[in-house]
Amino acid sequence: MKKVAILFIGAVLLPSLILAFLAIRSIRDQQMVMERQQTLLYQEVINSLFKDIDTALAEKQRDFTFAVTKLLEGKDARKEAAQFNEQLRKTWPLARVGFVVALEGEVLSPSMFSGSEARRFRLENDQFLCSRETVEVYWNSPKGAINLSKLDQSDYSEKAVYATKSTKNNLPAAEAEFKSLIADANDGTIARYLQNKLNLLFWTRAKTDPQLIYGSLIDIPQLVNDLSKLLKVEPKLKDEIAVGLLDDKSALVAGTHAGLNWERPYLTVEVGDSLPHWKLALILLHPGKINQSVQSIRLTLGLLIAALLLAIGVGTWLIAQDLHRQLALARQKTDFVSNVSHELKTPLTSIRMFSELLQSPSITPAKQHEFLQIIQSESARLTRLINNVLDFSSMERGTRKYNFQPISLLDQVRHTIEAYRPQLELNGFKVEVELPVSNCRIKGDPDALSQALMNLLSNAEKYSGDNKEILITLEAGPVDVRVKVCDRGNGVPKGAEEKIFEQFYRAHDSLSSCIPGSGLGLTLARQIARAHKGDISYQPRPGGGSCFILTLPCHEN
Ligand code: ADP
Repeated sequence: MKKVAILFIGAVLLPSLILAFLAIRSIRDQQMVMERQQTLLYQEVINSLFKDIDTALAEKQRDFTFAVTKLLEGKDARKEAAQFNEQLRKTWPLARVGFVVALEGEVLSPSMFSGSEARRFRLENDQFLCSRETVEVYWNSPKGAINLSKLDQSDYSEKAVYATKSTKNNLPAAEAEFKSLIADANDGTIARYLQNKLNLLFWTRAKTDPQLIYGSLIDIPQLVNDLSKLLKVEPKLKDEIAVGLLDDKSALVAGTHAGLNWERPYLTVEVGDSLPHWKLALILLHPGKINQSVQSIRLTLGLLIAALLLAIGVGTWLIAQDLHRQLALARQKTDFVSNVSHELKTPLTSIRMFSELLQSPSITPAKQHEFLQIIQSESARLTRLINNVLDFSSMERGTRKYNFQPISLLDQVRHTIEAYRPQLELNGFKVEVELPVSNCRIKGDPDALSQALMNLLSNAEKYSGDNKEILITLEAGPVDVRVKVCDRGNGVPKGAEEKIFEQFYRAHDSLSSCIPGSGLGLTLARQIARAHKGDISYQPRPGGGSCFILTLPCHEN
Protein backbone atom coordinates (compact mmCIF):
# COMPACT_ATOMS: atom_id res chain seq x y z
CA MET A 1 0.00 0.00 0.00
CA LYS A 2 2.77 2.39 1.03
CA LYS A 3 4.78 1.43 -2.05
CA VAL A 4 1.82 2.03 -4.36
CA ALA A 5 1.16 5.42 -2.71
CA ILE A 6 4.80 6.48 -3.15
CA LEU A 7 4.72 5.25 -6.76
CA PHE A 8 1.51 7.19 -7.43
CA ILE A 9 2.85 10.38 -5.87
CA GLY A 10 6.13 10.09 -7.79
CA ALA A 11 4.75 9.03 -11.16
CA VAL A 12 1.43 10.89 -11.35
CA LEU A 13 0.78 13.43 -8.63
CA LEU A 14 4.14 15.21 -8.56
CA PRO A 15 4.57 15.53 -12.37
CA SER A 16 0.96 16.74 -12.66
CA LEU A 17 1.47 19.38 -9.99
CA ILE A 18 4.70 20.54 -11.65
CA LEU A 19 2.87 20.76 -14.99
CA ALA A 20 0.06 22.75 -13.37
CA PHE A 21 2.62 25.11 -11.82
CA LEU A 22 4.36 25.58 -15.18
CA ALA A 23 1.02 26.24 -16.83
CA ILE A 24 0.22 28.94 -14.26
CA ARG A 25 3.60 30.56 -14.94
CA SER A 26 3.02 30.40 -18.67
CA ILE A 27 -0.19 32.44 -18.23
CA ARG A 28 1.93 35.27 -16.85
CA ASP A 29 4.47 34.99 -19.67
CA GLN A 30 1.66 34.88 -22.19
CA GLN A 31 0.57 38.40 -21.24
CA MET A 32 4.09 39.75 -21.73
CA VAL A 33 4.48 37.96 -25.06
CA MET A 34 1.17 39.33 -26.34
CA GLU A 35 2.03 42.87 -25.28
CA ARG A 36 5.45 42.58 -26.85
CA GLN A 37 4.01 41.25 -30.12
CA GLN A 38 1.46 44.02 -30.23
CA THR A 39 4.05 46.69 -29.56
CA LEU A 40 6.34 45.32 -32.27
CA LEU A 41 3.50 45.39 -34.76
CA TYR A 42 2.61 49.00 -33.93
CA GLN A 43 6.26 49.97 -33.93
CA GLU A 44 6.48 48.73 -37.51
CA VAL A 45 3.47 50.85 -38.43
CA ILE A 46 4.97 54.00 -37.00
CA ASN A 47 8.44 53.27 -38.43
CA SER A 48 7.01 52.90 -41.89
CA LEU A 49 5.09 56.18 -41.50
CA PHE A 50 8.28 57.85 -40.36
CA LYS A 51 10.07 56.66 -43.48
CA ASP A 52 7.25 57.89 -45.73
CA ILE A 53 7.33 61.36 -44.18
CA ASP A 54 11.12 61.51 -44.27
CA THR A 55 11.08 60.60 -47.94
CA ALA A 56 8.31 63.11 -48.66
CA LEU A 57 10.30 65.93 -47.00
CA ALA A 58 13.43 65.02 -48.96
CA GLU A 59 11.34 65.07 -52.13
CA LYS A 60 9.99 68.52 -51.27
CA GLN A 61 13.58 69.71 -50.85
CA ARG A 62 14.51 68.30 -54.27
CA ASP A 63 11.36 69.78 -55.71
CA PHE A 64 12.42 73.19 -54.45
CA THR A 65 15.92 72.91 -55.98
CA PHE A 66 14.32 71.86 -59.25
CA ALA A 67 11.89 74.84 -59.17
CA VAL A 68 14.80 77.27 -58.56
CA THR A 69 16.91 75.71 -61.34
CA LYS A 70 13.95 76.06 -63.69
CA LEU A 71 13.43 79.72 -62.76
CA LEU A 72 17.09 80.55 -63.31
CA GLU A 73 17.47 78.52 -66.51
CA GLY A 74 19.35 80.64 -69.09
CA LYS A 75 19.14 83.73 -66.91
CA ASP A 76 21.57 85.77 -64.88
CA ALA A 77 21.12 84.61 -61.29
CA ARG A 78 22.04 87.99 -59.83
CA LYS A 79 19.64 89.89 -62.05
CA GLU A 80 16.80 87.51 -61.33
CA ALA A 81 17.30 87.78 -57.56
CA ALA A 82 15.07 90.83 -57.04
CA GLN A 83 12.02 89.08 -58.60
CA PHE A 84 12.62 85.74 -56.91
CA ASN A 85 10.05 86.06 -54.09
CA GLU A 86 7.14 86.84 -56.40
CA GLN A 87 8.18 84.30 -59.03
CA LEU A 88 8.69 81.46 -56.61
CA ARG A 89 5.38 82.04 -54.85
CA LYS A 90 3.65 81.87 -58.19
CA THR A 91 5.28 78.60 -59.28
CA TRP A 92 5.91 76.64 -56.07
CA PRO A 93 2.93 76.07 -53.75
CA LEU A 94 4.95 75.54 -50.56
CA ALA A 95 6.68 78.91 -50.78
CA ARG A 96 5.63 81.50 -48.24
CA VAL A 97 8.55 83.88 -48.82
CA GLY A 98 11.27 83.34 -51.40
CA PHE A 99 14.65 84.81 -50.51
CA VAL A 100 18.09 85.32 -52.09
CA VAL A 101 21.22 85.92 -50.04
CA ALA A 102 24.58 87.02 -51.41
CA LEU A 103 27.17 85.40 -49.17
CA GLU A 104 29.13 88.63 -49.09
CA GLY A 105 26.46 89.71 -46.60
CA GLU A 106 23.46 91.09 -48.47
CA VAL A 107 19.83 89.95 -48.75
CA LEU A 108 18.77 90.50 -52.39
CA SER A 109 15.20 89.31 -52.07
CA PRO A 110 12.51 89.84 -50.91
CA SER A 111 12.24 93.55 -51.03
CA MET A 112 11.32 95.25 -47.77
CA PHE A 113 8.45 96.85 -49.64
CA SER A 114 6.86 93.81 -51.21
CA GLY A 115 4.32 93.21 -48.47
CA SER A 116 4.07 92.71 -44.72
CA GLU A 117 5.09 89.06 -44.88
CA ALA A 118 8.30 89.94 -46.75
CA ARG A 119 9.05 92.75 -44.39
CA ARG A 120 8.64 90.60 -41.33
CA PHE A 121 10.86 87.94 -42.88
CA ARG A 122 13.57 90.48 -43.52
CA LEU A 123 13.37 91.90 -40.02
CA GLU A 124 13.51 88.48 -38.43
CA ASN A 125 16.15 86.91 -40.68
CA ASP A 126 18.43 89.60 -42.13
CA GLN A 127 21.00 89.44 -39.34
CA PHE A 128 21.12 85.66 -39.46
CA LEU A 129 21.23 85.34 -43.27
CA CYS A 130 23.97 87.96 -43.50
CA SER A 131 25.91 85.92 -40.93
CA ARG A 132 25.99 88.82 -38.50
CA GLU A 133 24.54 86.73 -35.65
CA THR A 134 24.46 83.12 -34.59
CA VAL A 135 21.11 81.47 -33.92
CA GLU A 136 19.92 78.13 -32.66
CA VAL A 137 19.08 76.02 -35.68
CA TYR A 138 18.30 72.49 -36.74
CA TRP A 139 20.22 72.07 -39.90
CA ASN A 140 20.43 69.42 -42.54
CA SER A 141 22.11 69.01 -45.87
CA PRO A 142 22.98 66.03 -48.06
CA LYS A 143 26.53 66.22 -46.65
CA GLY A 144 25.46 65.58 -43.12
CA ALA A 145 23.41 66.86 -40.26
CA ILE A 146 24.04 68.67 -37.07
CA ASN A 147 20.47 68.64 -35.91
CA LEU A 148 18.63 66.79 -33.21
CA SER A 149 16.58 63.78 -34.03
CA LYS A 150 16.30 62.13 -30.69
CA LEU A 151 13.40 60.02 -29.61
CA ASP A 152 11.16 61.37 -26.95
CA GLN A 153 11.01 58.79 -24.18
CA SER A 154 10.03 60.95 -21.31
CA ASP A 155 6.27 60.64 -21.36
CA TYR A 156 5.54 57.05 -22.03
CA SER A 157 5.48 53.87 -20.08
CA GLU A 158 8.47 51.58 -20.21
CA LYS A 159 6.29 49.09 -22.04
CA ALA A 160 6.49 51.07 -25.26
CA VAL A 161 9.31 50.25 -27.62
CA TYR A 162 10.47 53.29 -29.50
CA ALA A 163 11.15 53.47 -33.17
CA THR A 164 14.70 54.43 -33.97
CA LYS A 165 16.30 56.43 -36.73
CA SER A 166 19.63 54.92 -37.48
CA THR A 167 20.55 57.14 -40.44
CA LYS A 168 20.62 60.42 -38.52
CA ASN A 169 22.83 61.69 -35.75
CA ASN A 170 21.32 62.44 -32.43
CA LEU A 171 22.72 65.94 -32.06
CA PRO A 172 21.06 68.77 -30.23
CA ALA A 173 20.21 72.09 -31.87
CA ALA A 174 23.32 74.02 -32.76
CA GLU A 175 24.23 77.66 -32.37
CA ALA A 176 25.60 78.71 -35.73
CA GLU A 177 25.77 81.50 -38.26
CA PHE A 178 24.36 81.09 -41.75
CA LYS A 179 27.64 80.98 -43.65
CA SER A 180 29.22 78.28 -41.54
CA LEU A 181 25.98 76.29 -41.66
CA ILE A 182 25.87 75.99 -45.40
CA ALA A 183 29.66 75.78 -45.74
CA ASP A 184 30.33 74.20 -49.12
CA ALA A 185 27.02 72.27 -49.40
CA ASN A 186 24.79 72.85 -52.42
CA ASP A 187 21.38 72.69 -50.74
CA GLY A 188 19.74 71.91 -47.43
CA THR A 189 17.11 72.60 -44.82
CA ILE A 190 17.31 74.94 -41.88
CA ALA A 191 14.71 74.90 -39.15
CA ARG A 192 14.56 77.40 -36.29
CA TYR A 193 12.05 78.53 -33.73
CA LEU A 194 11.28 82.23 -33.78
CA GLN A 195 8.99 83.38 -31.00
CA ASN A 196 8.07 79.74 -30.45
CA LYS A 197 7.02 79.41 -34.06
CA LEU A 198 8.68 77.00 -36.44
CA ASN A 199 10.44 78.61 -39.41
CA LEU A 200 11.46 76.08 -42.02
CA LEU A 201 13.84 77.22 -44.75
CA PHE A 202 14.76 75.28 -47.87
CA TRP A 203 17.81 76.60 -49.67
CA THR A 204 19.94 75.88 -52.72
CA ARG A 205 23.08 77.41 -54.23
CA ALA A 206 22.75 79.06 -57.66
CA LYS A 207 24.66 76.90 -60.10
CA THR A 208 25.96 79.84 -62.12
CA ASP A 209 26.90 81.91 -59.08
CA PRO A 210 27.86 79.84 -55.98
CA GLN A 211 27.92 83.00 -53.87
CA LEU A 212 24.14 83.31 -54.27
CA ILE A 213 21.85 81.28 -52.01
CA TYR A 214 18.25 80.92 -53.13
CA GLY A 215 15.83 79.88 -50.43
CA SER A 216 12.23 79.72 -49.33
CA LEU A 217 10.38 80.04 -46.09
CA ILE A 218 8.03 77.06 -46.17
CA ASP A 219 4.27 77.42 -45.77
CA ILE A 220 3.84 75.03 -42.81
CA PRO A 221 0.02 74.60 -43.07
CA GLN A 222 0.43 73.70 -46.73
CA LEU A 223 3.23 71.28 -45.88
CA VAL A 224 1.11 69.67 -43.16
CA ASN A 225 -1.72 69.36 -45.62
CA ASP A 226 0.56 67.48 -48.02
CA LEU A 227 1.96 65.24 -45.30
CA SER A 228 -1.47 64.44 -43.86
CA LYS A 229 -2.20 62.39 -46.99
CA LEU A 230 0.51 59.98 -45.88
CA LEU A 231 -1.07 59.34 -42.49
CA LYS A 232 -2.92 56.12 -43.18
CA VAL A 233 -3.51 52.87 -41.28
CA GLU A 234 -4.01 49.46 -42.85
CA PRO A 235 -7.71 48.49 -42.94
CA LYS A 236 -7.16 45.54 -40.56
CA LEU A 237 -5.70 47.89 -37.92
CA LYS A 238 -8.21 50.68 -38.47
CA ASP A 239 -10.34 49.70 -35.49
CA GLU A 240 -7.31 49.23 -33.24
CA ILE A 241 -5.06 52.27 -33.65
CA ALA A 242 -4.95 55.88 -34.73
CA VAL A 243 -1.86 57.75 -35.95
CA GLY A 244 -1.28 61.48 -35.92
CA LEU A 245 1.28 64.22 -36.45
CA LEU A 246 1.87 66.33 -33.33
CA ASP A 247 3.57 69.73 -33.42
CA ASP A 248 6.22 70.93 -30.97
CA LYS A 249 3.48 71.71 -28.41
CA SER A 250 2.18 68.13 -28.78
CA ALA A 251 -1.00 69.41 -30.42
CA LEU A 252 -2.46 67.31 -33.22
CA VAL A 253 -2.00 68.94 -36.63
CA ALA A 254 -3.05 65.95 -38.78
CA GLY A 255 -4.32 62.47 -37.99
CA THR A 256 -6.42 59.49 -39.00
CA HIS A 257 -9.04 60.04 -36.31
CA ALA A 258 -10.48 63.26 -34.99
CA GLY A 259 -11.64 63.95 -31.46
CA LEU A 260 -9.20 61.71 -29.61
CA ASN A 261 -7.01 62.50 -26.65
CA TRP A 262 -3.38 62.61 -27.83
CA GLU A 263 -1.86 63.52 -24.48
CA ARG A 264 -0.43 60.08 -23.74
CA PRO A 265 0.23 58.23 -27.00
CA TYR A 266 1.21 54.56 -26.90
CA LEU A 267 4.20 55.12 -29.24
CA THR A 268 5.90 58.24 -30.59
CA VAL A 269 8.82 59.01 -32.84
CA GLU A 270 10.27 62.43 -33.66
CA VAL A 271 9.82 63.43 -37.27
CA GLY A 272 13.33 64.82 -37.33
CA ASP A 273 15.41 67.64 -38.73
CA SER A 274 12.92 69.42 -40.91
CA LEU A 275 10.21 69.53 -38.30
CA PRO A 276 12.15 69.54 -35.02
CA HIS A 277 10.21 68.42 -31.93
CA TRP A 278 7.31 67.36 -34.12
CA LYS A 279 6.27 63.80 -33.50
CA LEU A 280 4.51 60.98 -35.17
CA ALA A 281 2.24 59.43 -32.56
CA LEU A 282 0.21 56.23 -32.29
CA ILE A 283 -2.63 55.69 -29.84
CA LEU A 284 -4.71 52.62 -29.05
CA LEU A 285 -8.40 53.01 -29.74
CA HIS A 286 -9.26 50.30 -27.17
CA PRO A 287 -6.45 50.23 -24.61
CA GLY A 288 -8.14 47.49 -22.53
CA LYS A 289 -8.42 45.07 -25.45
CA ILE A 290 -5.13 43.30 -24.90
CA ASN A 291 -5.98 42.91 -21.25
CA GLN A 292 -9.28 41.35 -22.23
CA SER A 293 -7.56 38.81 -24.49
CA VAL A 294 -5.05 38.03 -21.74
CA GLN A 295 -7.91 37.70 -19.25
CA SER A 296 -9.73 35.24 -21.48
CA ILE A 297 -6.53 33.21 -22.04
CA ARG A 298 -5.95 33.31 -18.30
CA LEU A 299 -9.50 32.14 -17.66
CA THR A 300 -9.27 29.31 -20.18
CA LEU A 301 -5.91 28.12 -18.86
CA GLY A 302 -7.12 28.55 -15.29
CA LEU A 303 -10.16 26.38 -16.01
CA LEU A 304 -7.97 23.79 -17.70
CA ILE A 305 -5.66 23.68 -14.71
CA ALA A 306 -8.62 23.46 -12.34
CA ALA A 307 -10.04 20.61 -14.43
CA LEU A 308 -6.64 18.92 -14.41
CA LEU A 309 -6.35 19.24 -10.65
CA LEU A 310 -9.92 18.01 -10.23
CA ALA A 311 -9.17 15.03 -12.47
CA ILE A 312 -6.03 14.30 -10.42
CA GLY A 313 -8.04 14.61 -7.21
CA VAL A 314 -10.84 12.35 -8.43
CA GLY A 315 -8.30 9.90 -9.88
CA THR A 316 -6.44 9.82 -6.58
CA TRP A 317 -9.65 9.23 -4.68
CA LEU A 318 -10.75 6.44 -7.05
CA ILE A 319 -7.34 4.76 -6.88
CA ALA A 320 -7.35 5.02 -3.08
CA GLN A 321 -10.86 3.53 -2.99
CA ASP A 322 -9.86 0.72 -5.32
CA LEU A 323 -6.71 0.08 -3.35
CA HIS A 324 -8.74 -0.06 -0.17
CA ARG A 325 -11.16 -2.54 -1.78
CA GLN A 326 -8.33 -4.67 -3.09
CA LEU A 327 -6.71 -4.74 0.31
CA ALA A 328 -9.97 -5.71 2.02
CA LEU A 329 -10.48 -8.49 -0.54
CA ALA A 330 -6.92 -9.74 -0.07
CA ARG A 331 -7.48 -9.77 3.70
CA GLN A 332 -10.80 -11.58 3.28
CA LYS A 333 -9.19 -14.18 1.04
CA THR A 334 -6.53 -14.84 3.65
CA ASP A 335 -9.24 -15.13 6.30
CA PHE A 336 -11.18 -17.43 3.99
CA VAL A 337 -8.28 -19.84 3.70
CA SER A 338 -7.84 -20.02 7.47
CA ASN A 339 -11.63 -20.27 8.00
CA VAL A 340 -12.03 -23.08 5.49
CA SER A 341 -9.05 -24.96 6.94
CA HIS A 342 -10.63 -24.58 10.37
CA GLU A 343 -14.05 -25.74 9.06
CA LEU A 344 -12.52 -28.74 7.38
CA LYS A 345 -10.50 -29.72 10.40
CA THR A 346 -13.33 -29.61 12.98
CA PRO A 347 -15.75 -32.12 11.36
CA LEU A 348 -12.88 -34.35 10.28
CA THR A 349 -11.58 -34.48 13.87
CA SER A 350 -15.08 -35.39 15.16
CA ILE A 351 -15.57 -38.03 12.46
CA ARG A 352 -12.20 -39.63 13.28
CA MET A 353 -12.73 -39.47 17.02
CA PHE A 354 -16.29 -40.95 16.98
CA SER A 355 -15.39 -43.67 14.47
CA GLU A 356 -12.55 -44.72 16.80
CA LEU A 357 -14.97 -44.76 19.73
CA LEU A 358 -17.35 -46.97 17.70
CA GLN A 359 -14.61 -49.59 17.51
CA SER A 360 -14.61 -49.98 21.29
CA PRO A 361 -16.07 -53.41 22.32
CA SER A 362 -17.82 -52.01 25.38
CA ILE A 363 -19.96 -49.55 23.50
CA THR A 364 -23.73 -49.71 24.10
CA PRO A 365 -26.17 -49.72 21.15
CA ALA A 366 -27.61 -46.37 22.32
CA LYS A 367 -24.17 -44.77 22.27
CA GLN A 368 -23.44 -46.42 18.95
CA HIS A 369 -26.56 -44.80 17.50
CA GLU A 370 -25.65 -41.40 18.94
CA PHE A 371 -22.07 -41.55 17.60
CA LEU A 372 -23.27 -42.59 14.14
CA GLN A 373 -25.66 -39.63 14.07
CA ILE A 374 -22.81 -37.29 14.99
CA ILE A 375 -20.62 -38.74 12.25
CA GLN A 376 -23.51 -38.33 9.81
CA SER A 377 -24.17 -34.69 10.70
CA GLU A 378 -20.45 -33.80 10.65
CA SER A 379 -19.99 -35.35 7.21
CA ALA A 380 -23.11 -33.47 6.02
CA ARG A 381 -21.48 -30.30 7.30
CA LEU A 382 -18.30 -31.17 5.47
CA THR A 383 -20.23 -31.84 2.27
CA ARG A 384 -22.02 -28.48 2.59
CA LEU A 385 -18.77 -26.65 2.99
CA ILE A 386 -17.13 -28.38 0.06
CA ASN A 387 -20.25 -27.80 -2.07
CA ASN A 388 -20.26 -24.15 -1.19
CA VAL A 389 -16.61 -23.73 -2.12
CA LEU A 390 -17.01 -25.62 -5.39
CA ASP A 391 -20.22 -23.81 -6.31
CA PHE A 392 -18.69 -20.49 -5.49
CA SER A 393 -15.76 -21.09 -7.80
CA SER A 394 -18.02 -22.25 -10.64
CA MET A 395 -20.24 -19.20 -10.09
CA GLU A 396 -17.15 -16.98 -10.18
CA ARG A 397 -16.21 -18.51 -13.51
CA GLY A 398 -19.84 -18.25 -14.67
CA THR A 399 -20.02 -21.97 -15.35
CA ARG A 400 -22.72 -22.92 -12.85
CA LYS A 401 -25.65 -24.55 -14.61
CA TYR A 402 -29.21 -24.62 -13.20
CA ASN A 403 -31.74 -27.24 -13.92
CA PHE A 404 -34.94 -25.18 -13.86
CA GLN A 405 -38.23 -27.05 -13.67
CA PRO A 406 -41.71 -26.44 -12.27
CA ILE A 407 -41.65 -27.54 -8.63
CA SER A 408 -43.74 -27.25 -5.50
CA LEU A 409 -41.90 -24.88 -3.20
CA LEU A 410 -43.91 -26.20 -0.27
CA ASP A 411 -42.60 -29.72 -0.84
CA GLN A 412 -39.09 -28.45 -1.42
CA VAL A 413 -39.04 -26.46 1.85
CA ARG A 414 -40.60 -29.25 3.85
CA HIS A 415 -38.11 -31.78 2.45
CA THR A 416 -35.08 -29.59 3.25
CA ILE A 417 -36.28 -28.86 6.79
CA GLU A 418 -36.92 -32.50 7.48
CA ALA A 419 -33.43 -33.39 6.27
CA TYR A 420 -31.88 -30.85 8.63
CA ARG A 421 -34.27 -31.15 11.56
CA PRO A 422 -32.51 -34.21 13.22
CA GLN A 423 -29.23 -32.30 13.47
CA LEU A 424 -30.97 -29.24 14.89
CA GLU A 425 -32.88 -31.27 17.44
CA LEU A 426 -29.77 -33.21 18.35
CA ASN A 427 -28.17 -29.90 19.21
CA GLY A 428 -31.12 -28.91 21.38
CA PHE A 429 -33.01 -26.63 18.95
CA LYS A 430 -36.75 -26.13 19.02
CA VAL A 431 -37.77 -25.99 15.33
CA GLU A 432 -41.12 -24.40 14.47
CA VAL A 433 -42.46 -24.61 10.94
CA GLU A 434 -45.48 -22.68 9.62
CA LEU A 435 -46.37 -23.77 6.14
CA PRO A 436 -49.55 -22.81 4.20
CA VAL A 437 -52.08 -25.38 3.22
CA SER A 438 -52.22 -24.30 -0.40
CA ASN A 439 -49.44 -25.34 -2.69
CA CYS A 440 -47.11 -22.77 -4.30
CA ARG A 441 -45.49 -23.71 -7.52
CA ILE A 442 -42.37 -22.06 -8.80
CA LYS A 443 -39.89 -22.66 -11.58
CA GLY A 444 -36.63 -23.60 -9.96
CA ASP A 445 -33.63 -25.86 -9.53
CA PRO A 446 -34.47 -28.17 -6.56
CA ASP A 447 -30.83 -28.82 -5.57
CA ALA A 448 -29.81 -25.17 -5.76
CA LEU A 449 -32.86 -24.05 -3.74
CA SER A 450 -32.22 -26.72 -1.15
CA GLN A 451 -28.59 -25.56 -0.89
CA ALA A 452 -29.67 -21.91 -0.37
CA LEU A 453 -32.19 -22.91 2.30
CA MET A 454 -29.69 -25.22 3.97
CA ASN A 455 -27.21 -22.36 4.20
CA LEU A 456 -29.86 -20.19 5.91
CA LEU A 457 -30.72 -23.01 8.36
CA SER A 458 -27.06 -23.69 9.07
CA ASN A 459 -26.50 -19.98 9.78
CA ALA A 460 -29.51 -19.89 12.10
CA GLU A 461 -27.97 -22.82 13.95
CA LYS A 462 -24.50 -21.27 14.10
CA TYR A 463 -25.46 -17.74 15.16
CA SER A 464 -28.29 -18.54 17.64
CA GLY A 465 -26.11 -18.74 20.72
CA ASP A 466 -28.04 -20.10 23.73
CA ASN A 467 -31.53 -19.15 22.45
CA LYS A 468 -32.09 -22.26 20.42
CA GLU A 469 -35.33 -21.46 18.66
CA ILE A 470 -35.78 -21.48 14.93
CA LEU A 471 -38.96 -20.49 13.08
CA ILE A 472 -39.45 -21.26 9.40
CA THR A 473 -42.46 -19.78 7.60
CA LEU A 474 -43.66 -19.77 4.05
CA GLU A 475 -45.95 -16.97 2.88
CA ALA A 476 -47.48 -17.05 -0.56
CA GLY A 477 -48.49 -13.76 -2.18
CA PRO A 478 -50.18 -13.14 -5.53
CA VAL A 479 -46.88 -12.62 -7.39
CA ASP A 480 -44.22 -14.08 -5.15
CA VAL A 481 -43.54 -16.42 -2.25
CA ARG A 482 -41.37 -15.70 0.76
CA VAL A 483 -39.53 -18.25 2.87
CA LYS A 484 -38.43 -16.77 6.21
CA VAL A 485 -35.78 -18.38 8.40
CA CYS A 486 -35.73 -16.65 11.79
CA ASP A 487 -33.66 -17.27 14.91
CA ARG A 488 -33.29 -15.73 18.36
CA GLY A 489 -29.54 -15.10 18.23
CA ASN A 490 -27.76 -11.75 18.53
CA GLY A 491 -28.58 -10.69 14.97
CA VAL A 492 -26.31 -9.08 12.42
CA PRO A 493 -24.20 -6.22 13.81
CA LYS A 494 -25.33 -2.72 12.76
CA GLY A 495 -23.76 -1.50 9.51
CA ALA A 496 -23.05 -5.04 8.28
CA GLU A 497 -26.61 -5.76 7.02
CA GLU A 498 -25.62 -5.59 3.34
CA LYS A 499 -21.95 -6.48 3.67
CA ILE A 500 -22.79 -9.99 4.93
CA PHE A 501 -23.87 -10.82 1.37
CA GLU A 502 -20.40 -9.96 0.00
CA GLN A 503 -18.00 -12.78 -0.72
CA PHE A 504 -15.73 -13.80 2.19
CA TYR A 505 -17.25 -11.16 4.46
CA ARG A 506 -17.85 -12.35 8.03
CA ALA A 507 -19.42 -10.16 10.68
CA HIS A 508 -18.57 -12.90 13.21
CA ASP A 509 -14.92 -13.72 12.72
CA SER A 510 -14.08 -17.41 13.29
CA LEU A 511 -11.10 -16.60 15.44
CA SER A 512 -12.73 -14.07 17.73
CA SER A 513 -16.27 -15.54 17.82
CA CYS A 514 -15.22 -19.22 17.58
CA ILE A 515 -18.08 -19.74 15.11
CA PRO A 516 -16.79 -21.60 12.05
CA GLY A 517 -17.57 -20.25 8.60
CA SER A 518 -16.20 -19.37 5.17
CA GLY A 519 -18.05 -16.14 4.37
CA LEU A 520 -19.59 -17.76 1.29
CA GLY A 521 -22.95 -19.13 2.52
CA LEU A 522 -25.04 -15.97 2.05
CA THR A 523 -23.18 -14.96 -1.12
CA LEU A 524 -24.13 -18.26 -2.70
CA ALA A 525 -27.68 -18.20 -1.36
CA ARG A 526 -28.26 -14.73 -2.82
CA GLN A 527 -26.71 -15.71 -6.17
CA ILE A 528 -29.01 -18.74 -6.33
CA ALA A 529 -32.06 -16.59 -5.43
CA ARG A 530 -31.15 -14.00 -8.07
CA ALA A 531 -30.64 -16.74 -10.67
CA HIS A 532 -34.31 -17.58 -9.90
CA LYS A 533 -35.24 -13.87 -10.42
CA GLY A 534 -35.73 -13.54 -6.67
CA ASP A 535 -33.57 -12.28 -3.81
CA ILE A 536 -32.50 -12.77 -0.20
CA SER A 537 -32.71 -9.97 2.32
CA TYR A 538 -32.02 -9.55 6.02
CA GLN A 539 -34.35 -8.11 8.65
CA PRO A 540 -33.75 -7.93 12.39
CA ARG A 541 -36.33 -10.06 14.15
CA PRO A 542 -38.70 -8.20 16.50
CA GLY A 543 -37.83 -9.32 20.05
CA GLY A 544 -34.21 -10.16 19.06
CA GLY A 545 -32.56 -12.34 16.46
CA SER A 546 -32.35 -12.44 12.69
CA CYS A 547 -34.77 -13.08 9.85
CA PHE A 548 -33.48 -14.03 6.40
CA ILE A 549 -36.16 -13.80 3.74
CA LEU A 550 -35.88 -15.70 0.49
CA THR A 551 -38.27 -14.21 -2.08
CA LEU A 552 -39.07 -16.06 -5.28
CA PRO A 553 -41.51 -15.25 -8.08
CA CYS A 554 -44.52 -17.52 -8.49
CA HIS A 555 -44.69 -19.65 -11.56
CA GLU A 556 -47.77 -19.04 -13.73
CA ASN A 557 -49.19 -22.11 -15.38
P1 ADP B 1 -20.34 -17.84 7.25
O1 ADP B 1 -19.71 -19.05 6.69
O2 ADP B 1 -19.38 -16.92 7.93
O3 ADP B 1 -21.53 -18.12 8.06
P2 ADP B 1 -22.21 -16.55 5.49
O4 ADP B 1 -22.00 -15.92 4.14
O5 ADP B 1 -23.19 -17.58 5.59
O6 ADP B 1 -20.77 -16.98 5.95
O7 ADP B 1 -22.57 -15.36 6.49
C1 ADP B 1 -21.87 -14.16 6.47
C2 ADP B 1 -21.92 -13.51 7.82
O8 ADP B 1 -23.25 -13.10 8.10
C3 ADP B 1 -21.59 -14.42 8.95
O9 ADP B 1 -20.19 -14.48 9.16
C4 ADP B 1 -22.31 -13.78 10.12
O10 ADP B 1 -21.51 -12.78 10.67
C5 ADP B 1 -23.53 -13.16 9.46
N1 ADP B 1 -24.74 -14.01 9.65
C6 ADP B 1 -25.22 -14.91 8.77
N2 ADP B 1 -26.35 -15.48 9.26
C7 ADP B 1 -26.57 -14.93 10.48
C8 ADP B 1 -27.56 -15.10 11.48
N3 ADP B 1 -28.57 -15.97 11.35
N4 ADP B 1 -27.48 -14.37 12.61
C9 ADP B 1 -26.46 -13.46 12.76
N5 ADP B 1 -25.48 -13.24 11.84
C10 ADP B 1 -25.55 -13.98 10.72
